[in-house]
This record gives sequence, structure tokens and C-alpha cells, in this order.
Amino acid sequence: MARFTLPRDLYYGDHAIDELKNLKGYKKAIIVTGGSSMKRGGFLQQTEDALHAAGLETMLFEGVEPDPSIETVFKGAKAMQEFGPDVIVAIGGGSPIDAAKAMWVFYEHPEKTFDDIKDPFTMPRLREKAIFVAIPSTSGTASEVTAFSVITDYSTNIKYPLADFEITPDIAILDTSIPQTMPKQLTAHTGMDALTHAIEAYVATARSSFSDPLALKAISDIFDDLIDSYNGDMEARGRMHIAQCLAGMAFSNALLGIAHSLAHKTGAVFDIPHGCCNAILLPSVIQYNSRACMERYAQIARAIGLPGSTDKQLTDSLVNAVREMNKKLGIAQTYRENGVTEELLNANIDKICENAVKDPCTSSNPRPIDVENMKKVLLCAF
Ligand code: NDP
Ligand code: MN
Repeated sequence: MARFTLPRDLYYGDHAIDELKNLKGYKKAIIVTGGSSMKRGGFLQQTEDALHAAGLETMLFEGVEPDPSIETVFKGAKAMQEFGPDVIVAIGGGSPIDAAKAMWVFYEHPEKTFDDIKDPFTMPRLREKAIFVAIPSTSGTASEVTAFSVITDYSTNIKYPLADFEITPDIAILDTSIPQTMPKQLTAHTGMDALTHAIEAYVATARSSFSDPLALKAISDIFDDLIDSYNGDMEARGRMHIAQCLAGMAFSNALLGIAHSLAHKTGAVFDIPHGCCNAILLPSVIQYNSRACMERYAQIARAIGLPGSTDKQLTDSLVNAVREMNKKLGIAQTYRENGVTEELLNANIDKICENAVKDPCTSSNPRPIDVENMKKVLLCAF
């Protein structure tokens, strides 16, 4: 028995935000967003205007920080309890969308604690009080279509990927004009996050006939468009917005692997953006996993026209192509080059690797791993 879940509705294209005007039959919407990027781009105003046109009263909850904290989640849940929305609209990067998903859980279930929902697939039923609309502004996390929400506990510096199909948004709106305002580095980091999602999903243990074509199409589109998008080609950037969503549909169901386990644990401790961690880790992870699923990596390499005839040659070509992509995106290939000192590494490597082994993404990795091997993979990327 297996399950494949996607949002109920997906709207996409230029000015897809306007679809909010058709949200009839609801009364109150809370809009959850990050710092100021959505305001500066005019997208927040468009969201409010469209909701007002649909006859909804709105309230704004802003200021969700990158890599959102448990405290922010509970603050937002409290605001929701006071306002009583029947629609939650999250607009912004993965951080505000993820935070809003967790707020939604505690809005519907004020009796729950963070510990109650930490383990995968332990969420209570939602949608008694509100439906959830997600409007992504970055092209990476695909939180608009996934069953995940990544929340950081800053008292321990651990990132928790909360996971349950219950938190898959009801409506995803992919407005291709929104990612146009992303600065170059954000485009690079979030794009490599999307590539890592697609590659990890293609080899993950929960992969299926439903997730495979989505993952492969995402990989090939990202190889076609990410560098052009980074270099300012706005049509390529629009296509990247769709490609990252295909990757999200794949990994939300096929799950991920140890690039994400390590990205979750190193990101918080080393203070490096999530997508950048994935970009650094992906080549070493492919090398480690290739003993278990070389033919799958070879299929990817063949699908995007990389050179090689044996599975080994094709897998090596894929590793090289990822490194080449990082170079063209201006991403330094190691933690060291990203400013992590030997001292910081040594002080944290045991904890990082012990926690990475326990991360839910490890259980869907194609090759089993223990703490010692996790350290080796991390050191290869150092
Ligand atoms: P964030 O949401 O953290 O945003 C990073 C920065 O980008 C913020 O400063 C934000 O500014 C800015 N920004 C966002 N959109 C734009 C835009 N269109 N133009 C200009 N600036 C913009 O970035 P990500 O999307 O990469 O999300 C990362 C988070 O998502 C991490 O916590 C990661 O762990 C998590 N994640 C979640 C997954 C899931 O399935 N749910 C999967 C993978 C990662 P401002 O705050 O001002 O809006
Ligand atoms: Mn990710």
C-alpha cells in the first residue's frame, strides 16, 4: 500500500495571484509572510486586493524569519486564534510557508505541543477551521505542494522536518512574476535545493511510477534553465518556478535522502542557507549512494544527455555536472570555502552526524548509513 498526495488545486502563470479573487464563500483570511520582499515587490498588495475583491476580511502576520523558529510558529498560531480565519494564505519563500503550515496545526489544535507533532505522520486532522493557500516566491523548497514544514529549535540548533500529508496545502498558486525579484544568490541556492529534491526523490526508497517522471522532468528542466535564470533570463526563471514544483510533487511522495538530513543539521549549526548546504553536499552524497543505486543515477545522466557508456561513467558524469553547475552559479563547493572553520566543525561534527542519522530523511535514503559513514560524507564535503 502506498499513497500519492498533491494539493487539490494548482494555478500557475503570470499574475496567477489574481485567482484569489475567485475564493468565494469564505469570510476571513490571514496572510502570513516573511520580512519585506513581498511588500517591496507589490505582491502583498496584490494578494490583499484580490482577497478583498473576493469579499474577505484580511489580517497580516508578517516578519517570519528565514529558517523559522518554534516561537514564531506559536506567535502566529495565537494571532490566528484571535482573528479566527477560515483561509490561511502564506506568501513568500519556504520559510513563511513552512511556518504558516505549523501555525495552522496549532491554530486548529491549541492543545498540542511541538513534541506531539515532531514524529513523521503524527499530525492531527486539519481543515475544521481553515483551508491553506500557498504562494511561493522562491523557486526551491516547493513547500506549496509538499507534506513538509521545516522548523528550527534554536535552543538546540536542530531543524525539524515536520512531515504529514495533512499539511499539504489545499491550493498552490505559482505566479511566475514573483520569483523575478529574487537576487542572484537566492536564485542559485534555491535552484540547487530544487535539483537536490529531484535527484534525491529519483533514488529514494519511496519512489514510485508516479514520482519518477516528475523527478526526471524536473531534473532535466533545471539543467536546462537554472543557469539562464541565475543570469537574469526571466523566461527561464518562470520555467524554473514550475520545475521546482514538479520536484516538490515528486519528493513530497518519494521522500528525500541524506543530503537533506545533513543539510538540516549543518544549516542550523553553520548558519548556511538550506539550498547552499544541499549544493555542497550533493556530489558526495551521490558518490556514497552510488553503491546502492548506480543504475538510477546513470538513468538520470542518460536522460539529460551526459557522456558515458557504463553506469559508473554516467554516475561520474552526473557528479561532475553538479559540480560544474555549482561553479556556474558562484557556489563554493565546500563548507570550508563557505566560511566554516575546522574548529567549528570539530566542535559539532559528532552532534551533527548523530542528529543527521536520526533525521526522517535518512530512512528513505537508498543506502543505509551509520554515524561513522555520515561523518565521512560530511568530511568529503568539508
Ligand atoms: P526563505 O523563505 O528562507 O527566504 C530567504 C530570503 O529570501 C528572505 O530574506 C526573503 O526575504 C527573501 N526572498 C524570498 N522571496 C524573494 C523574492 N521573490 N524576491 C526577493 N527576495 C526574496 O528561503 P527558501 O525559500 O529557500 O526557504 C528556506 C526554508 O525552507 C528553510 O528553512 C528550509 O529548511 C525550508 N525547506 C522546506 C521544504 C519543504 O518541503 N517545506 C523543503 C526544503 C527546504 P523576506 O523575508 O523579506 O521575504
Ligand atoms: Mn530542500
